[in-house]
Parts: sequence; C-alpha cells; structure tokens
Amino acid sequence: MKLIALRCSSCSNALAPNDDDLVIACGNCGAAIAITDEGLQPIELRFSVSGTAASQYQPWWVFEGRVQINRREAQSGNRREEAIQFWSQPRSFFVPAWELSLQALKRDGLEMLKRQPQLQAGTRPAQVRLSPVVVSAEDARRMLEFLVLSLEAARADWLKTIDFKVEVGEPVLWALSSR
Ligand SMILES: [Zn+2]
Repeated sequence: MKLIALRCSSCSNALAPNDDDLVIACGNCGAAIAITDEGLQPIELRFSVSGTAASQYQPWWVFEGRVQINRREAQSGNRREEAIQFWSQPRSFFVPAWELSLQALKRDGLEMLKRQPQLQAGTRPAQVRLSPVVVSAEDARRMLEFLVLSLEAARADWLKTIDFKVEVGEPVLWALSSR
C-alpha cells in the first residue's frame, strides 16, 4: 500500500478521505474533490441558498428529467390517470449521496420528489462541513428508478404491474443544508 499526501487543489489544505468516500469537500475552502483511480479531481458542487445560515451540508445528486408510464395495472381502483398526470411534466429527482440506510434514502428521496423544491445556487460558504459522498452518480441513477417505483407503489390502488421509462440528464451534485 502506497500512502500519498492528499491535498486540496485549490488551497493545498491536507485532506483525509475515508476508503468509501467518492467526493469530499475541502474543510478549509469548501472546494469539492472527487477521489478517483486517477487521483483527485475537482468536481462541480452547488450550494443551495437556504433561509438559515448552515454549517453542515449534505450532498444530493439532482437529476432533471421525465418519466413515461407505458403500462400500469392495479388490483383495485387504478390510479393510472393520476400517475400520468403527475408525470406529465418534467421533474427534479433528488437522491441522497451521503451514507444513509436504504430506508432513510427512500424516505428522503420520495419526500423531495413529491415536494419538488426549487434549488437556487449561492456562493460557497466558508468553513463548510459536507458529509462525504459515498453514492456514485451511476448508483444514484439506479436509486432514482427505485424511487419512481416506490412512489407508484405508494398510490392507493394496490399496484400490480408497471412499465415505465425514465429519461434524465447527467446529475449535478448539490449541497443542501441538513435539516
Ligand atoms: Zn481547499
């Protein structure tokens, strides 16, 4: 095992990522750094403007896109029209990127999917603390499909089968103040 000194490319601050960390924020300047096999790479991280001045942030992968319901069958009172109505417009998909149980990930992701908060990027705050990113963009995409499925399964009609297609662009990493 070779130990190499990891330093922030913006301010040279020493970094100490854990083994599972994919992206971390420099504790000094707040720059986001992806830890890849090729080394450290700066990555875009948008800080959302929120009402309160926060110091602790959590990372989210945010996708923009749409869902097309091809087929939806239920055991009673098919909510197909309701589903088609919900997905008739583009949606933002929020996938938690920090270490979280699957259950919590589903709960938080669904809540954001239903609430559709409008994110506004602000300036990078000083002395930022961001929970490390441990979910890759690729895994987040899979999680997104799971969230769509969960949302449909939660409609009050005993979902039996569903066939849908998700079309989303590349995700952007957002730092949202923790609640
Ligand atoms: Zn730095």
